[in-house]
Amino acid sequence: MEGGLWAATAAAAPDLPTLEGEVTADVVVVGGGFTGLSAALHTAERGLSVVLLEADKIGSGASGRNGGQVIPGLKMDPSELRRDYGQDMGGRIVKLSGGAADLVFDLIKRHAMDCPAKQGGWIQGAHSKIALKSVLARAEEWQREGAPATIFDKKMIADETGHDFYEGGWIDRRAGQVNPLAYARGLARAAVKAGARLFVRSRATGIEKDGDGWRVKTATGSVRAGQVALCTDAYSDELWPGLRTAQVPVKSVQIATTPLGHNVRSRILPGGAVVSETRKLAVYYRLDADGRLLMGGRGPMSEHVGNATLDTLVRTVRRLWPFLDSTPYEYAWSGTVGLTLDHMPHLCRLAPGVITGLGYNGRGVAMTTAMGTVLAKSLAGTPDADLDLPLSDLPKVPLFGIRQPFIALAIQYHRLRDAMGLPG
Ligand SMILES: Cc1cc2nc3c(=O)[nH]c(=O)nc-3n(C[C@H](O)[C@H](O)[C@H](O)COP(=O)(O)OP(=O)(O)OC[C@H]3O[C@@H](n4cnc5c(N)ncnc54)[C@H](O)[C@@H]3O)c2cc1C
Repeated sequence: MEGGLWAATAAAAPDLPTLEGEVTADVVVVGGGFTGLSAALHTAERGLSVVLLEADKIGSGASGRNGGQVIPGLKMDPSELRRDYGQDMGGRIVKLSGGAADLVFDLIKRHAMDCPAKQGGWIQGAHSKIALKSVLARAEEWQREGAPATIFDKKMIADETGHDFYEGGWIDRRAGQVNPLAYARGLARAAVKAGARLFVRSRATGIEKDGDGWRVKTATGSVRAGQVALCTDAYSDELWPGLRTAQVPVKSVQIATTPLGHNVRSRILPGGAVVSETRKLAVYYRLDADGRLLMGGRGPMSEHVGNATLDTLVRTVRRLWPFLDSTPYEYAWSGTVGLTLDHMPHLCRLAPGVITGLGYNGRGVAMTTAMGTVLAKSLAGTPDADLDLPLSDLPKVPLFGIRQPFIALAIQYHRLRDAMGLPG
């Protein structure tokens, strides 16, 4: 399970040291995933001195394990965002999240990252006629926002996916795919080039007030900085009270076939889009740059990913494309996704000079990158009112310690809703 496809195929990581001794900076970023790396890059580009501490390796959290689907927008649709956050802030969130995929592809190009990337669109397939209604409403909303969104009927979506299990759907052509570990490593290289100092195998073990700033300690050193950005998302430990319990952690698992022959490949996702479904307990899939089929879905309740979970994904592949019946599988891996109860990412000021961005609900490749730009603006002194995300309290999952039975119940509930064809 460890490492998976991306560790085997991504361009090499930059050679980074472990923190030894005491250093000072304007800003210390904790966490070397997309959020922390984007925050470090964009803060350094604004002229501040930045140190980033990563407990393990660059991208060793969710950022180096995900499906690499770069999807703009959020779970909430533009009209819902404007309803809940008001015309001005709602509009800004729509613009930020809607532009997040373009931001990723622009960064890859601008920094000449060694990262397979393709802006081939994201298809959302409707698993029922009821779900199709809500999907079409979403597509029409994004069309009104000026997004390159196309609605698919049953025949069109079958042509695009190579199977006829969907009632219809839509494609958002702003979206696409990357090798996520290569992207994380590319961001790290860009941040170093911009002047940020990155340290790996340097877990932050404590944060304390130090004069008018903060001191963040590791086992072998410490960083004295005016401001701290905590970017540890679903991989948070006990570093800051309440951070680990701010989200519901759930496992997501992926498998990848060996590279498929060209004839077979052309019968699956010929347009090069990535796909997810309207089901709440959905699967997500795509081809990678070498023509492997990747299939991902919900993982087990425990840390251990057993054969039953993998078999479910293999069965899904065979159900969608029976001609892949005897295709061998090369990789299987898993990671933790953080879910917030309101399905929204959150920007939170934890104390004066300490800020965090978290809560991407399984759709973080694009939004983490955008969050990093918002964190950088805030760290560089942009007033809260001018940020493109609202500051909120740190979310809290009630009864976090005994969440397992509730998650099990929620899964049963969503399985029932999926079977009834209700939208996720
Ligand atoms: C299996 C899987 C599939 C997914 N698929 C997709 C997808 O296809 N598309 C999509 O948009 N999103 C997807 N996601 C979600 C996406 O990967 C995440 O939203 C995103 O990577 C979160 O990035 P992050 O930088 O906030 O957190 P992370 O990448 O998790 O980074 C947090 C980092 O903090 C470090 N850390 C923790 N504590 C400390 C400490 N005390 N000191 C120093 N460092 C610390 C960790 O080691 C880790 O590297 C998927 C997630 C998973 C797990």
